[in-house]
Amino acid sequence: MDSNQDAYVNELVQLVSGLLHFTWAWIRPPSGRVSDELEQLKGLIETNTPLNYGMAAWQWKLDNLGEYNSRLVSFKINELIIERPGQPHGTMKNNYIPQKIGIFVWRALRGRILTKVEFDKRGIDLDNILCPICNDSVETVEHTLITCKMAKDVWQAIYNWWESSPPNSSSLSDFFSGSRRRNLSRENKKIWQSIEWVTGYFIWKNRNLKVFRNDHWAYSKVASDIQVKTFEWMKNRSRHKAIDWIQWLTGPNTLSFPHYNSRDSG
Ligand SMILES: [Zn+2]
Repeated sequence: MDSNQDAYVNELVQLVSGLLHFTWAWIRPPSGRVSDELEQLKGLIETNTPLNYGMAAWQWKLDNLGEYNSRLVSFKINELIIERPGQPHGTMKNNYIPQKIGIFVWRALRGRILTKVEFDKRGIDLDNILCPICNDSVETVEHTLITCKMAKDVWQAIYNWWESSPPNSSSLSDFFSGSRRRNLSRENKKIWQSIEWVTGYFIWKNRNLKVFRNDHWAYSKVASDIQVKTFEWMKNRSRHKAIDWIQWLTGPNTLSFPHYNSRDSG
């Protein structure tokens, strides 16, 4: 609110007879909460600053070098708001895909991925809380992962691949619990669960691409990336090392694992 936004502290403060005098050039004078915050800042300067007329600077205590680093700040925000150390990830485990994806889905189900609405709920001001992909709806977790046009198109493609249609629902648990696929064999349910979770994760990655790089993939590219990545993971992480790409693309009908289905699929 000062017209000289790049001023150093020592340009605004003069020491006169042992007391600090501040000189401001307000565009509009501070009032209310801002005025309180200003008083607090002045208090901090009075009690903590040696004011040696060198270059005044704030130090970031988060970083050893004392330098601001936006990546570190977002990491810290994530740690403080999203991570709750010590809380178990419950049953969100599926060893056919990397653990971070299970953790992502677990967080999403609890509203702990940082959509704009979740930022807003935590008192962090944003210019707007609209979905960055469609700019058409408020960005809730459900919107991003399920009801956004982009998400819907990806889910539709993935469900087509698995010869079914998406739930007529915007409930996260309908999309991530695998519960609706009662017709699948036990082993194929586990594979389907991997695909559901990876789909949510890739939709989120596409959203982040838009937010952080102002770019995003078409739904068809997201869907084919999901097929490629889950195939790779299936070959490397599951017992189905012999699956071939054509079989994988053809969908659940060709994936029959009688040996595994007859007993615990792990
Ligand atoms: Zn949207």
